[in-house]
Parts: sequence; structure tokens; C-alpha cells
Amino acid sequence: MKIEAKDRYDLWIGGKYAKASRYDTVRCPYDGRPVGEVPKATLKELDAATGKPIVEARGEVARAIQTLIFSAEEAKRIHGELVPLDAHPNGAGRFGFTLRVPRGVVAAITPFNFPINLACHKIGPAIAAGNSIVLKPASNTPRTGFLLADLFAEAGLPDGGLNVVSGSGGELGDPLVADRRVRMVTFTGSADVGRRILSTAGIKMVTLELGSNSAVVICDDANIEDALVPCVVGGYAHSGQVCISLQRIYADQRVYGDFLDAFKSRVEALKIGDPLDETSQITSLIRPEDADRSLEWIDEARAAGATIVTGGHKIGRATVVPTIIAHTKRDMKVIAEEAFAPLTTADSVGTLEEAIARVNDSALGLQAGIFTRDLDRALYAAHHMDAGGVMINDVPTFRVDQMPYGGVKDSGLGKEGPKYACEEMTCMKMIAVKRKMM
Ligand code: NAP
Repeated sequence: MKIEAKDRYDLWIGGKYAKASRYDTVRCPYDGRPVGEVPKATLKELDAATGKPIVEARGEVARAIQTLIFSAEEAKRIHGELVPLDAHPNGAGRFGFTLRVPRGVVAAITPFNFPINLACHKIGPAIAAGNSIVLKPASNTPRTGFLLADLFAEAGLPDGGLNVVSGSGGELGDPLVADRRVRMVTFTGSADVGRRILSTAGIKMVTLELGSNSAVVICDDANIEDALVPCVVGGYAHSGQVCISLQRIYADQRVYGDFLDAFKSRVEALKIGDPLDETSQITSLIRPEDADRSLEWIDEARAAGATIVTGGHKIGRATVVPTIIAHTKRDMKVIAEEAFAPLTTADSVGTLEEAIARVNDSALGLQAGIFTRDLDRALYAAHHMDAGGVMINDVPTFRVDQMPYGGVKDSGLGKEGPKYACEEMTCMKMIAVKRKMM
């Protein structure tokens, strides 16, 4: 199945494109060139997308994307369980079972950084569980939402099963989230917007996949060579704009110097360039203001005594040169907040306990990692790292789409991964049967 991107999209509501009253130009973040136009929905246009009936989709999804394949497989195993009511004295003569039923209309609000896969993490399970869905993609990357709508329509999804409404989150967010016809909000994005959604949603299911300042520990027994490439990829892939980007590195003082030297030379070798150049490894951040904000944080760290090991400046419109910062303090923004830029901090620690205390000294907790060849240390970290997932001998950036994924603390609520998202996107209904006693 091949779908060509169009220069201009309309709203996708109820299985049809509908003209919008306003359109926005989408620009390439690297150099600002226009890449197409998308609708900027008004509140009236949003209303047309939320009134659709619940559609239970059982169509085959022929996309070669693991998230959708796993989601499609989950559609076959959404089931309840028997409940032995007669185990209670008051339940004599009865038996019970649970059903898992669709929640209804699911509103999905997605961020810019993985506009297809993160949308599929919501669309796939929502459809598998029999819900209809209204997708509000990020304003910086809305076109893929419409491409997905075309694909789902071609795959046979009934009209109204998936609706795509692009437009400003600040304008559409509150009415969409508060709408009583919407029975669940699944959000991926920043903590500030997540908090607002939680306070606006009212009594309905809300899952929040938010950001982090993910950390890794490198023990003195680790094979440093094995840690280097994952740390470079984890810290700098997508120019650091990944929710589980490696941001903080805590290396045992006995290996810290060797690690930092080797890490620095690999980070400095990353190739910066145009996103359409196949050899580019680092490119611009999504918005120029994000580059400026990360440079302010780097300057703040420098002024407070940190060492800029490499990088620390910008080139072009919004490209931050890959940066490593050492000798940090806990209150520096590059430590305490989500950087979402191509920067890592690298500090030395004396013991595993100290390292884990520093990993946990954060309001965020999405994933964490540890490099060690000692099983006891690995399991100690697995138990004591306060995060939604702990990666042994890998960076926190590791994720495959079927695994349960979601943070603790201010990193979010609920889990994604098709099996787990299907659980979140269904209600458990109790059925109690009173038998006629023979
Ligand atoms: P964002 O600014 O929070 O935007 C995310 C979405 O929320 C966009 O569609 C945005 O619309 C919308 N939005 C904005 N204001 C809203 C409001 N008041 N009510 C409802 N929706 C509103 O995040 P981003 O900059 O696109 O993405 C980066 C963030 O996402 C980072 O914090 C990153 O860690 C997080 N993230 C988390 C995960 C995860 O799985 N945990 C994965 C990827 C990214 P507009 O674009 O129109 O403003």
C-alpha cells in the first residue's frame, strides 16, 4: 500500500475530507522551507469530529509497522475472566465473569517528535479495542496524521473510526479534553500540557506519556566499549528530541576518565547537516526557540561552575552542536529538567548507591539504565531505580513497541505498548449470573 503525501490536506472527519476555514503552512525546522499546508481547525470543526459513533474495527491492518501489527494481534485477545462469586457466603448460587468493553470516543493528542509511531500507539490499540478516535497531531508535524487516515481508510476502517483534526493545542485542547462525549484522553507530550489535561478532563480515563531526564549508571566492572555506542545513540539520536533520550550519565570514578575521553571523541565525530542528507546524524531542533532555550541552560550550567566538555553553541537556524557537560550540580536545569536537545551530562560517582541516589534525585522517572557485568548490581538497580523501566546493559533509550512503556512520578500515568494500551482503552464490566437452583 503506497500513499503519496499531498501538498495540502483538509480535515479528516467521519471518513471524508472536509474543507477547513483556515490553513497553516508547515515548515521544515532545519531551514524554514515550506513543506505543505494543513487545516487549522476551529472549535466548530472540532465539534464535528467528536460526535461520531463508536466503531468497533476488526479490519485487517496491513501496515508493516510493528505497533500496528502488535495492536492488530491484541484485538484477538481482549477478554475478561471468571469470577467465583460463590466463594463468598452471599454469592451462593451465582457465578460471574468480566467483559472488557470499549471506552467509547478516545481523544489522542500527540507530540511532534515521532508523529507516526506515537500516533499509531494510540490509533492501533484504540481501534483494536473497539473505540473510535479523534487524533489531534502536533502543529509542527500534522501531515502524517492525515497520511495515516488515508492508509486506515484504504485498509477498510469504517468511516468515523478515525478522525484527524489539526490545529492549535492551546485553542482546541481544552474543549476536546473536557468534551463529555470523549471517554478517554491519551496524551503524549510535555509535563505542562499533561498537567493541564489532567485538570481539565473531568471524570474520564486519562493516560499521560510525558518527558524525562533519563539517566544511566556505568559501573567500574562495565565494558566501557559496550557502553559507548549506546550512550552516543541514546544521547544524540533525533538531536536529543526523544522522551527517553539519555540525558544524565553517572560513571564510577574508576572508569570515568577513560569513558569521558572516548565518549567525547565519538560525540565530536557526529555529522551535522540537512535532515534530507542521508549521512546527517545531527540536525536542527524543531523550533529555533528550543535551540535558544537549550543554550540558555548550558550557559546557566557554565556560570554555576559546570565544565562544557564539548559543544555548547548553535549553528544555523536551530542546530545545537552536540554538547557534553561535566561537574554538574543537582539544581542546574541541564540536570533537573528535560533538556530535549543534543546534550548529555557526565559526572563521576563513588559507589553504586550514590549513583542510584543521583538517578532518583529527580521529579521525573521514565526509564533508566545500568552497565554492569555483576548480576547482583544489575538486580539491585532494577529494584531501586525509580523509573517506569530499567534497562540492564543498555541506555534508557531502549524501547521496542510491544513492551509496557510509561513513567512514574512526573513522567506520566498509565502504560503504552499495544497490550497495555488496550487494557487502558477498555472498561472492565462485571456480569453476575443468578442461577435458578434445581
Ligand atoms: P507539547 O508541547 O506538550 O505538545 C504535545 C501536543 O499537545 C501537541 O499536539 C500540542 O498541540 C498539544 N497541546 C498543546 N497545548 C495543549 C493544551 N492546552 N491542551 C491539549 N493539548 C495541547 O509537546 P511537544 O513539544 O510536541 O513534544 C515534546 C514533549 O513530548 C517532550 O516533553 C517529550 O518528552 C514528550 N514525549 C513523551 C513521550 C512518551 O512516550 N513519554 C514520547 C514523545 C514525546 P500544538 O502542537 O498545536 O501546540
